[in-house]
Amino acid sequence: MTLRWRAVASATGLTAPDGLVRPTIFAEMTALAARAGAANLGQGFPDEDGPAWIRELAREAISSGENQYPPGRGIAPLRAAIAAHQDRHYGLSYDPETDVLVTAGATEAIAATVLALAGPGDEVLTLEPFYDAHAATIAMSGATHVTVPLVPGERGFALDVAALEAAVTERTRLILVNTPHNPTGTVLSRAELGALAEAAARVDAIVVTDEVYEHLTFDGLEHTPIATLPGMRERTLTISSAGKTFSLTGWKIGWVTGPAELIEAVLAIKQFLTYSGGAPFQPAIARALVEGDGDIAALRDGLAARRDRLVAGLRAAGFPVSVAGGTYFVCADASPFLSPEVPDGAAFARALPERLGVACVPLSAFCREGSPTARALSSWVRFTFVKDDATIDLAIERLSALAR
Ligand code: GLN
Repeated sequence: MTLRWRAVASATGLTAPDGLVRPTIFAEMTALAARAGAANLGQGFPDEDGPAWIRELAREAISSGENQYPPGRGIAPLRAAIAAHQDRHYGLSYDPETDVLVTAGATEAIAATVLALAGPGDEVLTLEPFYDAHAATIAMSGATHVTVPLVPGERGFALDVAALEAAVTERTRLILVNTPHNPTGTVLSRAELGALAEAAARVDAIVVTDEVYEHLTFDGLEHTPIATLPGMRERTLTISSAGKTFSLTGWKIGWVTGPAELIEAVLAIKQFLTYSGGAPFQPAIARALVEGDGDIAALRDGLAARRDRLVAGLRAAGFPVSVAGGTYFVCADASPFLSPEVPDGAAFARALPERLGVACVPLSAFCREGSPTARALSSWVRFTFVKDDATIDLAIERLSALAR
């Protein structure tokens, strides 16, 4: 029998030589960065907290006694605000009583969804590279993880549609999409979403979509939820959270929206994972979703400028860069700086904090060990720009040594 924790370690490439589990790539790189005093462009979390007025609402909720278990589905005003948000931004209508579930961040939503809807003998399809938690929860469920490559280009990464057609079969139970996409920053186009939707309909698979970077798109690009495509609302569970939208990643307020029967299935698992949580944060996010559009716009504009600053610096240092239209991240090819001593992106990323005082994350950490995509992206690394200007400038200054 495979113990599930070992399966999770192996699915995320974190099995240590002694058979135990290594920390995630984010924790590892953050620790290396701290030890070397490096500018940490590895782990993607904002170094500036979200709007003071939203934080004040949580403080007031604590003082006024909102400190016990909230309802398992989430407090009514937050469910209403989530439903209103989906309607206002995307024209998707959901009943807050039955079609909305509040979770402990998007991570719990993904875990509860995959555990509810897939198991041994099922295949769950994701893009590759994929966010580590997606692979981990598929391993927890006992389902088989199948991937379809994203291929790098100048303007972001593109879905390999032919590979998608081949990978989606009668065994495909879930198609787990992530757009805007971590780690590549890619915002899937309508054509790519259409191909995914068609594939799902062909084999009657359910689509689960992780859209936590939904508001963080640049260059006038707009995020399209796959649930808005014809026929897709009924087979799609849409997951998002407040963490990225309001720079409050530690509050862990996430949600799932979708048809009532599917939400019921997710709730059946979710209520025995955390049951419920984040009592004082829920009312604060309920207000933020209704009144926070100005803050979201300011965050988006600020991030776009910082992305451009980082991309210019990476290019000046000699990296080929794939500039995608969303998220906290840009990907760069470290090929020009590899050598027999530093043979790939993972070695480059591990050496960089000590060598130059900058941290990044290798894309191989988001791939299956030894997969064709892992080989194709073995020289690539991810940098985050959700850091203050001083940190980005320091990193650029330090990386410029590579060009000399
Ligand atoms: N989402 C963050 C990233 O991609 C990290 C989250 C974590 O540390 N697990 O960098």
